[in-house]
Amino acid sequence: MLISLVVPCYNEEESLPYFYDETTKVIDSMGCDCEMIFVNDGSSDGTLDELKKLAEKDSRVKYLSFSRNFGKESAMYAGFCNSHGDYTAVMDADLQDPPSLLPQMVEKLESGEYDSVATRRYTREGEPPVRSWFARRFYGLMNKISDTDIVDGARDFRLMTRQMVEAIVAMGEYNRFSKGIFGWVGFRTYWLPYENVERVAGQTKWSFWKLTKYAIGGIINFSQAPLYIASAFGLIMTLVAVFAIIFVVVRKLIFGDPVAGWASLVCIILFIGGIQLFCMGIMGQYLSRTYMETKRRPHYIVSQTNMDDAEKIR
Ligand code: UDP
Ligand code: MG
Repeated sequence: MLISLVVPCYNEEESLPYFYDETTKVIDSMGCDCEMIFVNDGSSDGTLDELKKLAEKDSRVKYLSFSRNFGKESAMYAGFCNSHGDYTAVMDADLQDPPSLLPQMVEKLESGEYDSVATRRYTREGEPPVRSWFARRFYGLMNKISDTDIVDGARDFRLMTRQMVEAIVAMGEYNRFSKGIFGWVGFRTYWLPYENVERVAGQTKWSFWKLTKYAIGGIINFSQAPLYIASAFGLIMTLVAVFAIIFVVVRKLIFGDPVAGWASLVCIILFIGGIQLFCMGIMGQYLSRTYMETKRRPHYIVSQTNMDDAEKIR
């Protein structure tokens, strides 16, 4: 049995040695074959050198090094496209995804009852409260407006069968939102809760702004609800306008009212103008993604690797 570990790394030179030590300890104790596919996502520090050092020491270490930073989603995709294992796992390089969970994850899949074991943190300790609050709202909203199940606190850390990995590789969309993709492809998933672990070294790569963009991307990718909301706005405003016209005409006929209410008119124009721009913005979000999708640009470009059969551009 071969296990593939896909590890996206962006400026992780400090955490990589810890990650390697911890993970190999667990893998060795499990007594199965393993390939560790480290994807260097255009790091500007010594991550690549660190990976080369590890690869020299241990032939199980494979690396794919991107020509620039393509983002974690692309890094995971590259790892999946180049993995060979019967089981494949995605893990962060900062040990926030404890390798000690791997044996029980493998056991679950071996039982044949599940196709994937996913992990979920049941605490968000050590995270800024504002970030947790927004994360909760996001998951609440997402589950209301999307058909795809997205679990609160779900990590990307999961172990999957070959069948499921192939399904994910087949989803070649450019705007990737893995939490949605994992749910979309289906299969039987076991959820393994664990306590949040803080990163072992280095800094988080996710600023609040980056996370917000990621969340909006998730919504646009897995829900059409914003488009319906925009349509609903349009419909409601039209109805309001019809009633307003009737009201104004009737009042003129009965009371012969002279022109008045400049202030309220300005308010109405601004309000409607605002809503129009808002709805156009929503449409624009979908359109821009469609635009990127139609260009069919590669997800990633590998500039250096020690894998012979690597798909360098996909
Ligand atoms: N990562 C990446 N490309 C990026 C940002 C992050 O490959 O553009 C990797 C990073 O090296 C780490 C994982 O994605 O292995 C999760 O990132 P991080 O720990 O910074 O996120 P957090 O755990 O704080 O959500
Ligand atoms: Mg992390």
